[in-house]
Amino acid sequence: MEKKAPTPMMAQYYEIKSQNPDCILFYRMGDFFELFEEDAEIASKILGITLTTRNHGSAGSTPLCGFPHHAADRYIPKMVAAGYRVAICEQVEDPKQAKGIVKRDIVEIISAGTAMAEGNLNAKEANYLLAYMTAKDGDAVFSMADVTTGFFATCKTSQNSFESEFSKRGPKEILVSRNTEIPKGIMDAILSENILITYFEIDQEKAKETLFNHFKVESLDGLGLEGRILETVVSGALLDYLNYQKKSELSHITALEILNLDEYMILDPSTFRNLELIKPLNSEDSSSTLSSVLDFTVTAMGSRTLKNWISHPLLSVEKIKERQNGVLELYNNPIVLDELKQSLMGVMDLERLMGRVGTGRANARDLKAIGASLCQAYQVCQAIEPLQSPLFDPFKKVLAFAKDKGESLVNNFLDDLPLTVREGGMIKHGAHAKLDQLNNEIKEHRDWMNSLEEREKKRLGISTLKVSYNKVFGYYIEVTQAALEKAKTTIPEEYIRKQTTKNSERYITPEMKNRESIIMNGESSINALEYDIFVELRKYVNSIRGEILEIANVLSMIDTLYSFSKAARKYNYVCPQVYQGSGIEIKGGFHPVIVAVNPKLEFISNDVDLSPEKTRFMLITGPNMAGKSTYLRQTGLIVLMAQIGSFVPAESASIGIVDRIFTRVGASDRLSRGLSTFMVEMIETANILRNATKKSLVLLDEIGRGTSTFDGLSIAWSIVENLHNEEAKAAITLFATHYHELTGLVDSLEHGKNFQISVEERGNKLVFLHKILEGACDSSYGIHVAEMAGLPSNVIRRARKILLRLEKQKIDPSDNAAQKKLKPQVDLFAPPDESTQLLKQEIYRLKPDNMTPMEALQFVADLKNHYGKD
Ligand code: ADP
Repeated sequence: MEKKAPTPMMAQYYEIKSQNPDCILFYRMGDFFELFEEDAEIASKILGITLTTRNHGSAGSTPLCGFPHHAADRYIPKMVAAGYRVAICEQVEDPKQAKGIVKRDIVEIISAGTAMAEGNLNAKEANYLLAYMTAKDGDAVFSMADVTTGFFATCKTSQNSFESEFSKRGPKEILVSRNTEIPKGIMDAILSENILITYFEIDQEKAKETLFNHFKVESLDGLGLEGRILETVVSGALLDYLNYQKKSELSHITALEILNLDEYMILDPSTFRNLELIKPLNSEDSSSTLSSVLDFTVTAMGSRTLKNWISHPLLSVEKIKERQNGVLELYNNPIVLDELKQSLMGVMDLERLMGRVGTGRANARDLKAIGASLCQAYQVCQAIEPLQSPLFDPFKKVLAFAKDKGESLVNNFLDDLPLTVREGGMIKHGAHAKLDQLNNEIKEHRDWMNSLEEREKKRLGISTLKVSYNKVFGYYIEVTQAALEKAKTTIPEEYIRKQTTKNSERYITPEMKNRESIIMNGESSINALEYDIFVELRKYVNSIRGEILEIANVLSMIDTLYSFSKAARKYNYVCPQVYQGSGIEIKGGFHPVIVAVNPKLEFISNDVDLSPEKTRFMLITGPNMAGKSTYLRQTGLIVLMAQIGSFVPAESASIGIVDRIFTRVGASDRLSRGLSTFMVEMIETANILRNATKKSLVLLDEIGRGTSTFDGLSIAWSIVENLHNEEAKAAITLFATHYHELTGLVDSLEHGKNFQISVEERGNKLVFLHKILEGACDSSYGIHVAEMAGLPSNVIRRARKILLRLEKQKIDPSDNAAQKKLKPQVDLFAPPDESTQLLKQEIYRLKPDNMTPMEALQFVADLKNHYGKD
């Protein structure tokens, strides 16, 4: 079949598509967006819309799907969330003026890291786009932006610290230089979170030009980037990408911050995940995170700052104390807390509103919301007025002038504002003399038109008469046939019939039309003037954007401090002592999340007393379910909370600043990525042994569990020795294990001590007391727990027998040869002394006081059954 040429419209489509091959093209046709070919096939599945075909002149028919243009707000977020990039192709000329095919162009490209519509954003989460490359010295160089707020920062740092920052920020999209190999840790995150990657070419000159143009500077010094050529390259590439995607001004990006990550605690990605700081391990249970417990913020900005603080624990005692003092003062001042809540409630998301202004999307509602929030900021300023902590001094200064700025905006606007900016209805009477004059000029005519209905109703005696307006023939009078007949009246002479509908007639009068034309002309000048006033106001907002963003920043910090104080009051936290040095002393510590989520649970609080001089290595034994992991995690969380300036869940706490927290706990989250439990365990442990310092806190849970007993034990043993003995990495360590053999080792270590989580046998039951005590625990609890879980008594007895033998012979259960040896011995030739020992153990465990006569009898019968054979 002869291949037909595409229609002119499809030719235009193909050309635009060929320039944007990696995008799903939303192609505007009148009131619809249409998608073609592969784009249509992909989108129809994701959006759940019907795929059809149409013959557009090319060979065969074209798959096609479409939807009304206003549905794009719903559909774009869905495509973006599915990991696609959407290019919006609009008609950029009036179809009526078009000669031939209407001109179309891409007006914006939207992807996860550049989205600005509410449908793609979580108000309480930042939306980062990250660009990075590896430097020759092996360091990572990266740049990050949140286009919704104008945040833009860069940094050159070690790969370790980059991976930490990457997981803390959780970027939604990344750009990578072509010569950079993505590290495994980052690749894992990219794959599991379906993060969109784009590659960029390193181009120093282009990067400089982009930055110079944007920030209107002429040298790198002006940006604080002198001597930082790699940071310049990645930041330029990132900004270039944003320009390309947004195709609009980005005037809210006012500065490029040089991050200093040395100020913050490093949290490697697995620790960040395992401590469930921001994201839950189980994605359905968002209440299990520390941020959900501490989040009493009133504003979305506050909630974002809270998450940022939780992800970035401080290392400076001075800075921590500064925050603590602020929290303490608020904590002691419930009246101020209450006033703060009230005043913060009226603060909108100033940062994101400024993002809308900066990208030219703001409407009158946004500007008014900015104004109203600035006025509220002044209320916040008044609420914190009585506070004395030095932390609040600069806050007061920043907020003091917010009111004037706010009022000068709000006072311009009407109460109810439209979404559009070119159709008037925005500016209040009294705000602008010329506008008032224009309004006055047509006032008489508007009043006449507004009262026309009442007048005519009376005149004709028809109560259902209506004066309405439509775009086709302007104002008209409408009378139904029935009403006309009922009123027994005739239509006045000056009425000119314009239209007959099913039940009624529509009329105009010469005077109406005359006045209408005056009104229309007047309104078109009014609308144009209102638009000009709006643009002026937008310019004004833009001109003070630095101050507004500073106010926003201060408000979000106040909100976060408020939140810390509220959490401290609600959950009875205390203000911890923090000091430069090593040591963790916690009295009556409890787990912040477990206690918050289960208010009825009687949580047993526990102490920690560790210091480099005395005990710095805690070996914790106890049966499963005793509370070992809980104890480890709560210690990690308490230390972290202390370093973000929050109060902590304890009766008292004294914390020496920790440079890193390492955890090696459950690995289930990475199993799905094809690594065995043991491999994950060892990768994470290797990282700890390589990077822990004297100032670190190491939390190790059940190391060696993933391999055979002797293998695992030997590895755990050697790790204990390494962590304890090597001075350079003599980190404070909490080590939970089920290898009882290690308790002997730890007894011999100078700075090591055995602890157990106590349990008590009551009758036939094992009761978990959850209390940490000094000393090692009895090793046979595993079997006891199995018994509680309802394993049949013969299985339990057999297990006890095997255990006894294993303990004597130290046979590795994974060793088949040894197992064969064990089997006949235990079954047939068990020496009498072993049976006697087991029998003794059973009698020893017996609690006759708690047994009914029937149970006692049954017990004797069981014993006879089992041991009678010997
Ligand atoms: P392990 O690590 O020893 O197996 P976990 O720390 O997982 O035990 O705790 C087991 C259960 O005991 C959890 O459901 C937890 O809520 C509860 N638990 C742990 N510690 C305490 C405590 N101090 N007080 C009360 N309940 C606790």
